[in-house]
Amino acid sequence: MTAAADTTTPRKADAFLVSCIDPRLTDDTTFLMAALGRTDRYSEMRIAGAALAAVDPARPAWNTALWENLAASRQLHGVREVIFVNHRDCGAMHGWAGRRLSDDPADELRQHHGVLERAAAAVRARHPDLGVTIKLMELDGSARVLPCAACGPAGGLRAEAVDPAGGPGDPAVLPVRPGAAAFADLVRLRAGGGLTDPDAELALLTDGVVQHGLTAAEARAVLLAEARRSGTASGSAAAAEARAFLRAQADPRGRVARTDALHAAALYRRVTGRQATEAEATRRVATLIEAEGLAPRPDGVLRSTTWFRRMAQA
Ligand SMILES: [Zn+2]
Repeated sequence: MTAAADTTTPRKADAFLVSCIDPRLTDDTTFLMAALGRTDRYSEMRIAGAALAAVDPARPAWNTALWENLAASRQLHGVREVIFVNHRDCGAMHGWAGRRLSDDPADELRQHHGVLERAAAAVRARHPDLGVTIKLMELDGSARVLPCAACGPAGGLRAEAVDPAGGPGDPAVLPVRPGAAAFADLVRLRAGGGLTDPDAELALLTDGVVQHGLTAAEARAVLLAEARRSGTASGSAAAAEARAFLRAQADPRGRVARTDALHAAALYRRVTGRQATEAEATRRVATLIEAEGLAPRPDGVLRSTTWFRRMAQA
């Protein structure tokens, strides 16, 4: 929430996010949404098993809680989309299946996919006009969109840059929407020699959205895929992502917490396809914080900002 936010009327939210209570991944879920540029634009319900809570017949109280919260968020915030984020090695899913699903990753994916599809169908049965997106998160925090027959027109076709590092490809993930191919051609044409100018990159992204009907996340994904394909490290794209993340996470006084700075450095590295070293990414983020007029938030018992000096000298 920003300093200027109106505190008297409920905020609008595009999406209702359902994620799990697993403590290993709570910050990754927030980070994922921030990396997709959706900070402050979604309402989130954390409940054990995420999509499982919608469809597990053994948990009627959880089913009810989920549907009532979705209905409330819809009424209060005007959500148009439901996003389910399940995750690997989920204790709730193990309990439901009666076995340790993570022992067989392919079977684990199938079980999650089944539960996610059923949850999507259950949403559509109650709210036929809401789109649904289903995702599975790995334990490293990267997430993939799964194809989804029950999700409605938008579901499963969103090509969000869920794994900017380009993890192992999954043939089950649907390709991007039609405009993406034409946009990729444009990117190749204009950025043949690599993109080092942030303004040129922004102009390209704008074309992707305005001319080719992509979401900002989709346009970024195409740009990154092209940068990877042509072997150019998209340093300015990485800086733009890190900058947006830092701005979103800064407190109302413009101060950035140490953990957020570290997350920004990790994001920077991921966007460059890990071509930047950790030290480079860390230094770059320190520079970005200063260039953006942000300040380090004092940390630790001594309330010191030494962490920031260490980042700048990494
Ligand atoms: Zn879980």
